[in-house]
Amino acid sequence: MRIVVLAGGIGGARFLRGLKSAAPEADITVIGNTGDDIHLFGLKVCPDLDTVMYTLGGGINEDQGWGRTEESFAVKEELAAYGVGPTWFGLGDRDFATHIVRTQMLGAGYPLSAVTEALCDRWQPGVRLLPMSDDRVETHVALNDPETGERRVVHFQEYWVKMRASVDAQAVVPVGAEQAKPAPGVLEAVAAADVILFPPSNPVVSVGTILAVPGIREAVAAAGAPVVGLSPIVGGAPVRGMADKVLAAVGVESTAAAVALHYGTGLLDGWLVDTADADAVAEVEASGIACRAVPLMMTDTAATAAMARAALELAEACR
Ligand code: GDP
Ligand code: CA
Repeated sequence: MRIVVLAGGIGGARFLRGLKSAAPEADITVIGNTGDDIHLFGLKVCPDLDTVMYTLGGGINEDQGWGRTEESFAVKEELAAYGVGPTWFGLGDRDFATHIVRTQMLGAGYPLSAVTEALCDRWQPGVRLLPMSDDRVETHVALNDPETGERRVVHFQEYWVKMRASVDAQAVVPVGAEQAKPAPGVLEAVAAADVILFPPSNPVVSVGTILAVPGIREAVAAAGAPVVGLSPIVGGAPVRGMADKVLAAVGVESTAAAVALHYGTGLLDGWLVDTADADAVAEVEASGIACRAVPLMMTDTAATAAMARAALELAEACR
């Protein structure tokens, strides 16, 4: 079975761990979000690709959900001693090595897809991890500065990590997406898939950004395979993080049903909501999307594998 998953960071990575356990024989291709990418200290950092790679490769800081296990922060402290920032983005020493290798390879002319493959040679994530594009795409957020009241545009990481999404987002723009091309293998994987899954990743700044690369949304919509998503919203709120802020910016309510309708029947054949949102099933089904309520909390690999099995079963039912 060929499974394609459009993944962000933590939600995507944890789901993939369950999917691998539920379908150990499957051939899994992950199309990773690179809209969160940022250049820091001259280095190219790809937070979502690295979260997937470290999580599946056994190098993740489990409690945090991102960054390396057994991490130290000597480089960060030294940079701070020089007064060189930003200090709000946590890069540990082990993590720095990944960004150095990536930046060195990009500088030598390798595309991001080849660099990602090389990094995965070490981590052996057990999936084929493809960046959505080799071209630079950076999500920016427009907001009204709380101090000056003026409209300001900040990098997504500044909004998310530094400001903790404490101000309403007026708009979310994947800068560069319009000119970007899908990375080699992306459209081929979507076309050849037996099942396409949207994990419980952020619908706007993770899955939405991947779909914003011209050709990807069209390929998913045209694919012969059933497309099934899992709600990142449980009981009217994101399970983790501030997805409600970016959903509001695109005019979507933070409910499991509203997110399904946002993707719409053009993309989705099936949608899983948490048992806490069983009320939403009728509304989603009325729109033409098959829907089931099952536990959607990724508390451990067994619970997450059960979610993945439910998604594959719904996909079968949609075929
Ligand atoms: P990020 O790039 O690290 O923000 O990660 P993603 O975009 O992949 O996923 C973030 C989303 O995952 C958030 O909107 C969370 O609500 C959702 N999420 C995290 N943990 C869980 C969980 O256990 N269950 C569900 N249903 N969603 C989750
Ligand atoms: Ca992310």
